[in-house]
Amino acid sequence: MAKIIDGRELAKEIRAEIKADAEAFTAETGVVPGLVTVLVGEDPASQQYVRMKGKAADAVSFNSRQITLPADTPHDELLGLVQGLNADPEVHGILVQLPLPDQIDEDVILETIDPAKDVDGFHPVNVGRLSIGDDDVLAPCTPAGVVEMLVRYGYDPKGKHVVVVGRSNIVGKPLALLLLRKAPGGNATVTVAHSRTADLGAVTRTADIVVAAVGVPETVTRDMVKPGVVVIDVGANQIEDPSAERGYRWVGDVDFDGVSQVAEAITPVPGGVGPMTITMLLKNTLEAARRQLAAGQVVEGAPTR
Ligand code: NDP
Repeated sequence: MAKIIDGRELAKEIRAEIKADAEAFTAETGVVPGLVTVLVGEDPASQQYVRMKGKAADAVSFNSRQITLPADTPHDELLGLVQGLNADPEVHGILVQLPLPDQIDEDVILETIDPAKDVDGFHPVNVGRLSIGDDDVLAPCTPAGVVEMLVRYGYDPKGKHVVVVGRSNIVGKPLALLLLRKAPGGNATVTVAHSRTADLGAVTRTADIVVAAVGVPETVTRDMVKPGVVVIDVGANQIEDPSAERGYRWVGDVDFDGVSQVAEAITPVPGGVGPMTITMLLKNTLEAARRQLAAGQVVEGAPTR
């Protein structure tokens, strides 16, 4: 049976490190890392994500604030809010929860966030920096979490063939770019597969490491991987389950029971990549605060709490 790559445990460990680093940073500089999350509308899943992010930020001694706007908020109002946050020296990280309602142009909003405060790593400037291999970029949180898990569990991607299934802008593509970097956690040989890949199993069977970011349960099955593979399941799919208390349960994109019989190591769902995503958001926020202070964007001695 495969070893379990426990995202909850690892996230706990890394969050303790971030808390210690944040408190030392504050003691030294008088600045408290500040994270603002903006939610437009009342989507229950988004509400829960935003709550979890705020709680996690408070737990590592950051200053966190959640701004909730009604679903019919006009584009210009959100734009103005983001511009205000860009100019606020107490705010080091800005996260606008996606998806946004139709009247709002998501691209314009993401491009308005100051790249230095873009802790989600979705601004085109940060995407560009990632693609040219900049080591210091604020990288998107889920892909960064995947790399961190691999490295901390002793499965350094360096020199390995990693097959990433999925080519989205928030997971598959940035993950491929991180894995390709000439930097710690990079130097892998990367293949990116997607819905038009002709024979997915033939591709994934050549992988030392498979990362599934598909959004379809059981896309990767036991016959599609080679023995000894390391599998990271990014998928978070709600499926109906009358026996579960809430009537549903979470599953990933990998057939866990089958694949765990042949894999060297595998992440569970839930409790795998999910907790790592928020952890990387915290890491980015602290890093953003450090850099803004170094760049003189934060007024030293300004009240921060
Ligand atoms: P998207 O829907 O944006 O992208 C899915 C990708 O999978 C696309 O590139 C698509 O191909 C590809 N794909 C779809 N079906 C197949 C198939 N049968 N075979 C091969 N490739 C296929 O999803 P995201 O990247 O946003 O998310 C992926 C999963 O990860 C979801 O379950 C999501 O909930 C989860 N997720 C979890 C997070 C966490 O923190 N745990 C964070 C973010 C996402 P094509 O491009 O051709 O359409």
